[in-house]
Amino acid sequence: MKNNRIHIAKHIWVNLCRFLLAGLFIFSGFVKAVDPLGTQYKIEDYLSAFGMTDWFPAFLPLLFSVILSTLEFSVGVLLFFGVRKRASTTLAFLMMLVMTPLTLYLAVTNPVSDCGCFGDAWVLTNWQTFWKNVVLLVAAASVFAGRARIIRFVTAQTEWLVSLYTVLYILVFSSYCIRNLPVIDFRPYKIGKSITEGMSIPPGAKPSVFETRFILEKNGERKEFTLENYPDSTWTFIDSRSILKEKGYEPAIHDFSMQELASGNDITDEVLQDSGYTFLLVAHRIEEADDSNIDLINELYDYSKEYGYKFYCLTSSEEKQIDVWRDQTGAEYPFCLMDNITLKTMIRSNPGVMLIKNGVILNKWSDNNLPDEYELTGPLDTLELGKQKVENDKRTMQLIFGWYILPLLLVLGLDILIVRRSERKRKNRNKNLINPLTNNKMRKNIVAGNWKMNKTLQEGIALAKELNEALAAEKQNCDVVICTPFIHLASVTPIVDAAKIGVGAENCADKESGAYTGEVSASMVASTGAQYVILGHSERRAYYGETPAILKDKVQLALANGLTPIFCIGEVLEEREANKQNEVVYAQLAGSLFDLSAEDFSKIVLAYEPVWAIGTGKTATAEQAQEIHAYIRSTIVEKYGKEVADNTSILYGGSCKPSNAKELFANPDVDGGLIGGAALSVADFKGIIDAFNA
Ligand code: PEP
Repeated sequence: MKNNRIHIAKHIWVNLCRFLLAGLFIFSGFVKAVDPLGTQYKIEDYLSAFGMTDWFPAFLPLLFSVILSTLEFSVGVLLFFGVRKRASTTLAFLMMLVMTPLTLYLAVTNPVSDCGCFGDAWVLTNWQTFWKNVVLLVAAASVFAGRARIIRFVTAQTEWLVSLYTVLYILVFSSYCIRNLPVIDFRPYKIGKSITEGMSIPPGAKPSVFETRFILEKNGERKEFTLENYPDSTWTFIDSRSILKEKGYEPAIHDFSMQELASGNDITDEVLQDSGYTFLLVAHRIEEADDSNIDLINELYDYSKEYGYKFYCLTSSEEKQIDVWRDQTGAEYPFCLMDNITLKTMIRSNPGVMLIKNGVILNKWSDNNLPDEYELTGPLDTLELGKQKVENDKRTMQLIFGWYILPLLLVLGLDILIVRRSERKRKNRNKNLINPLTNNKMRKNIVAGNWKMNKTLQEGIALAKELNEALAAEKQNCDVVICTPFIHLASVTPIVDAAKIGVGAENCADKESGAYTGEVSASMVASTGAQYVILGHSERRAYYGETPAILKDKVQLALANGLTPIFCIGEVLEEREANKQNEVVYAQLAGSLFDLSAEDFSKIVLAYEPVWAIGTGKTATAEQAQEIHAYIRSTIVEKYGKEVADNTSILYGGSCKPSNAKELFANPDVDGGLIGGAALSVADFKGIIDAFNA
């Protein structure tokens, strides 16, 4: 009872952890996929903070950003549906194993102020990120260790479809956002926002004090200047950066400052207060800007000139790079200098275009979908383009999830309707043919105990007597067998009522007789009056190197001596997780039994014992047990025909107890159990036997 409660608690814990991880991985992967360039910039920030920028080719941060979002989103979805458990839990655990110490290091050294885990959607400090990762690491370790407890929502037949669709979906989605700007903008430069308002500070709030530092060069010497000591024009501008001098209330936009290149004047207020239209061509690094749509940009400039709109190119590049751009593209528009990070925040495209009026962002275009001559057909106030573009995030989310969830629901619907239904039908068909609880079948129901290396001779005798007494009063609906250590056999066999309890050994030698010190032959076992022998138990395979070939010899000797082998097969945890259980049991059957004649095979009792369930408290679910028992029977049908298969008893073994026996034995292909731990207590063993009396 207590064990059962622990078992349930573990199930609940693992599944809670799994949903927590799934939710966070899906969210984190999704927001990164919405803004792959944002993640790229964050990765570049890290590389630069660690002085590693030159170590990698320029395309790598973006590629890594897409891979990361795909990985996180897909792992989250797989965890959510409980499919590809081994891969998803291992990946989640590995990611957390790497990220947790890394974020501790970031929290301590603080090279970048926000980790970027959730893009701009949810900004955490480095310490918050570290503690979040500690929680996730515990959750990831729990699901990794307890992955067998994860409840799956999709059958094995359709899981590939869910995995494939998820990976494709998120890849297509992030590519779309790279090409067309993020479909949801989490930044303060969202369409419809007023830059002026974003910069304003509520009355009474103390503003942060920033200082812009300008890096200029003269005669090979580079120096930093502020606005106060800005030098004469013999110095060449190289770069600029904002330095936080005193932290105060930080408005959403705090570093929007346009310095006209030609005049050196700050024209921020003039531009933001202009009641006319202004086009801002944003190219944070002009030397890296894509010039493939340069004709459209030049046309846009000509258009703005024609209608008297302002047009500025904002960049943080050096003057000589601006000159190169001018030469290469014929750019005639004026340039303004601005902070690099601000420019990257304004628009996720290099270059990209922003249209503002009265300081309010009316529209934004990526380089790939700039307005062309067919759209720019008149003054802006007569065009749709000139009106405030309406962004409806709720609707966008509906569309995004609609594209993901609807096809997925279709798959799940098919899964439930077709796959599960046919599975259920098959089970019902089988159930109608043979009902194990009513014994309406040719094969026997058997409950066999395996005492293993437990009990002294005296204790064993006492246990056998107690069981004999416990079973004396009523009729059992199954055969009962106890398999004891060798030395107990001769004493136990005469004690028990042979009509009710069979006795068996736990092993026998693979040799008939002779100089094999310490071994006990099949004929010796038979001479004690025992009728059964367990062969191929996973403990003997694992600890005593019993191979299929050795077991084949043992089976033949057991049969030759009139013993009924209870032949054990079953996979280890890794094999189950790799979905190889069928292959494994088939190889075990074929390797030791399938050379037998049909007549000899009919004398064998099989015991399917998943190794991960033996003595561990973990039980295969009734569904898992039935699935593999049915498979085992189907291999016998193939090899020896239906009649032999229908007559073969296949027992289940692995943490079987009174509380789960009934459910396990109710399966049409489960014909009883091979019981380890619970066979050492008469109450428990009888409880299991009684599962057939219900
Ligand atoms: C066994 O060893 O055969 C067995 C099934 O053990 P337990 O019931 O203790 O898991």
